[in-house]
Amino acid sequence: MPHIAIIGSGPAGYYTAEAAQKQWGDDVRVDVFDQLPVPYGLIRTGVAPDHQSIKGVSRRYEKTALTENVRFVGNVTVGKDVSVAELQQLYDAVVLATGAPNDKMLGLPGEDLANVYGSASFVGWYNGHPEFARLDPDLSGKHAVVIGMGNVALDVARILAKTETEFSGSDIVGHALQKLINSGIEKITILGRRGPHQIMMTPKELGELGNLERASPRVDRSDLPDEAEDALLEPGLRKSVTQLRSFAAIPEDMHAEKKIEIEFDFFASPVAMEGSGKVESVRVERTEVKAGRAVRTGESYSIPADVVVACIGYRTSPITGVPFDDRAGRFANDEGRILTGLYCVGWARRGPSGTIGTNRPDGFGLIEKIAEDIDAGLLGPAKRKGRSGFDELVKERGLDVVTFQDWKKIEEAEAAAAREGSPREKFIDIEAMISAAN
Ligand SMILES: Cc1cc2nc3c(=O)[nH]c(=O)nc-3n(C[C@H](O)[C@H](O)[C@H](O)COP(=O)(O)OP(=O)(O)OC[C@H]3O[C@@H](n4cnc5c(N)ncnc54)[C@H](O)[C@@H]3O)c2cc1C
Repeated sequence: MPHIAIIGSGPAGYYTAEAAQKQWGDDVRVDVFDQLPVPYGLIRTGVAPDHQSIKGVSRRYEKTALTENVRFVGNVTVGKDVSVAELQQLYDAVVLATGAPNDKMLGLPGEDLANVYGSASFVGWYNGHPEFARLDPDLSGKHAVVIGMGNVALDVARILAKTETEFSGSDIVGHALQKLINSGIEKITILGRRGPHQIMMTPKELGELGNLERASPRVDRSDLPDEAEDALLEPGLRKSVTQLRSFAAIPEDMHAEKKIEIEFDFFASPVAMEGSGKVESVRVERTEVKAGRAVRTGESYSIPADVVVACIGYRTSPITGVPFDDRAGRFANDEGRILTGLYCVGWARRGPSGTIGTNRPDGFGLIEKIAEDIDAGLLGPAKRKGRSGFDELVKERGLDVVTFQDWKKIEEAEAAAAREGSPREKFIDIEAMISAAN
């Protein structure tokens, strides 16, 4: 009976647990660890609070979590409360599904000015991640700049633009809701180094910007390539570009009806954040796209910026003793294999790409590899203690482990505290989560 430890309870962690059940049925024991007392990773703390149907995927993970041979071990940080080496003594296979929680840095002068954030912290703030819930961004100014041309940039721009009514039914945390609906923001600039044909935005998410109560998207017609060239794009991107074309056709008087303008500034590479103490503007250099790459032209200008959110990607947190690919910002691995008995999956394996669903084949593929390694005798013959061994360690160290049943109590308490129409008001402190569990 293989004993498997999965570190991280996000999509990659739970799809891997599901795959282990499919592979071995009742003849496997899986412990899914998380540093937080609550499961599901970015489904809870990343996916936008106004996209509840997407968050519904957690019901599938709950089905896996509630089976006898899978257990949730929350409030345990691997690398701090217990080391990877210790887990390897106890479990036949240790799978790192720890995601990519750290912001990639812009590497620009002025990046450390106040009110310049990476999307991990800004999104974590409005989604109630305990590490970022107290970020307290200043949204009193008129100008917001969002850097990046992917869906996370769209999430951030949309959240900055929505009204209170538009947040109904969402689980945005109370403190963020108040600040956002009372913000002074009148202009949101989305900056992209390349052009409309190089965006990573999907049509549905882009389309949402066209239906906001108090905001209107603006695209400069002259930034759009010849329409005939759209035919060469893959269908999803072509739809997104069509959406941009419809934004470019919005008449001036319709823009004027809305308080907030969301402007797409293409061919614009940020080169510095400027301001004294706090950000006041972003210095930008014009680019041209040559062979798919942005090349700076030397022409530069400044955009007023009272708050900046950089949505340019993420990196995995290194863990002591685990080989790390610093350039790629994830664990060094060969299709999920790191060292004998040590594996990685999801964003920790491939970096921050793809959708939630991309993690499913990733998890299933990894379990096939673990099964191959077991069959090849690579993980034996030592009889490992698995979860009973970990329970001894919990007693020895006095760890305050949160079980799945405890999480259900936290979930109930969050539902009971919800605003009208909202599914939950999240706890933003680990202590509050634990006391609700008890
Ligand atoms: C802002 C944002 C919005 C997104 N919106 C969408 C969307 O709308 N639709 C979509 O399809 N995809 C979306 N995605 C992508 C999706 O969230 C990811 O594909 C997915 O969450 C990656 O899964 P993962 O399990 O690899 O990582 P994660 O979901 O990040 O899970 C990692 C887990 O590991 C835990 N962990 C980390 N380190 C440790 C440690 N040392 N010890 C114990 N536990 C640890 C973390 O607490 C976390 O629970 C979004 C991503 C972001 C950032």
